[in-house]
Amino acid sequence: MCNDILKLLKIKDENIQVLKVEEDVEVRGQLSTVVYGTLSYTPKACMKCGCVNDGQIHKHGKRVSRLTLLKSQESNVYLNLAKERFKCLHCLKTFTAQTNIVDSNCFITNLVKLAIQDKLTRVQSEIDIANDCSVSPSTVKRCIHHISQSLIVKPSSGLPKHLSIDEFKSVKNVTTAMSFLFINNETNQIIDILEDRRIHKLKEYFYRFDRRERLAVKTVTADMYEPYINFIHEVFPNAILIFDRFHIVQHLNRELNKQRISIMNTCRYKSSTDYTKMKKHWKLFLSDRQDINSYEYFWSKSFKTYTTSRDILEYLLNLDQQLYDTYMLVHHLREALKQCDWLRFKETLMSVEKKHVSRGVWRVIRFYKKYEYILYSTIKHPKLNNGAIEGINNKIKLIKRVSYGYRNFNNFKARILIIFKLYQRRKKDSLLINNAA
Ligand SMILES: [Zn+2]
Repeated sequence: MCNDILKLLKIKDENIQVLKVEEDVEVRGQLSTVVYGTLSYTPKACMKCGCVNDGQIHKHGKRVSRLTLLKSQESNVYLNLAKERFKCLHCLKTFTAQTNIVDSNCFITNLVKLAIQDKLTRVQSEIDIANDCSVSPSTVKRCIHHISQSLIVKPSSGLPKHLSIDEFKSVKNVTTAMSFLFINNETNQIIDILEDRRIHKLKEYFYRFDRRERLAVKTVTADMYEPYINFIHEVFPNAILIFDRFHIVQHLNRELNKQRISIMNTCRYKSSTDYTKMKKHWKLFLSDRQDINSYEYFWSKSFKTYTTSRDILEYLLNLDQQLYDTYMLVHHLREALKQCDWLRFKETLMSVEKKHVSRGVWRVIRFYKKYEYILYSTIKHPKLNNGAIEGINNKIKLIKRVSYGYRNFNNFKARILIIFKLYQRRKKDSLLINNAA
């Protein structure tokens, strides 16, 4: 029989000969293609006692095993391989012929195992991978377990100089339902995931690292979760703490929006048109001042006239003095942050009076004043933010969703680490070269 079939199946072992191929054979309830082959050679030595073959090793029957290969044309393919058995007359023991396409005592070929590993680095459910590779889901699980052993972070592997930390919604069994994640903020590589985000657990984890390593950490970027602040100062004494810019703006926006809603609700029974206007034009309050148009006139249904966005905003702000003051304050702070202008930010922060702003905004201002030094370092390090880690968080959500959720944290963690640590995006340069060629 022509051995081109071996080339198609990517079997490189020259000791294997194909006898025949049968189509539509029922294997495990599915119609599959079965390739029949033999494995035979003259062994150089006895595998049991190690003595050199001097004609005393005889053929001793055959053992057939059905090996799983990768799918071909959407059909499962199996290799029914009759392996030669040998008997050594020195030690009177028997052994089976070996091949490099499959490990001993194993029925899943190495090519299938590699394919599973490759598929595991993409966002895909484990059952889908099992179906694609014609193996059972527990084989895929075993594969995950095997790979994840090599991805465990050891304290000796050290810490990066720029850290970024965040948390994400984890599996149900986790005590706080939130898990902790930290990445290298320069390379955006995930470093490790911890099951529990409570401070005492975090300290327990990070104190395993050498003190010298912890002292070498230069910056830590975090969201504005207050318990983290003391924890970071304690565990990384030399690190500069940086707040994520997005969260700073988000805090301010949220409070401004809350105030708009409360003013809107007071208008509800006094003047229903103002209520509608405020409800309809909520976006104007939150967009950047420079983006608000003052020259394009359009017909406004609620104002019953031709008007511009700026006029509408001015009208709405003039309804309430406190709303106006809060609006100006929030936008001054946002602009200073955007322009990385520390002096302007600080002056604005210091000029705020409690009576001029709402209670919520005042709470935010008090928090900012308390941690003024962190805001200073945030403005001085414009390139360090939590953008990458928030992106990773988003992908973690997707992994969970695609797999219909996880019950066990360790399985979830292993899958995340495999996807983020092993997945290699094809480089654009090499693509260009290929296209040019
Ligand atoms: Zn022997």
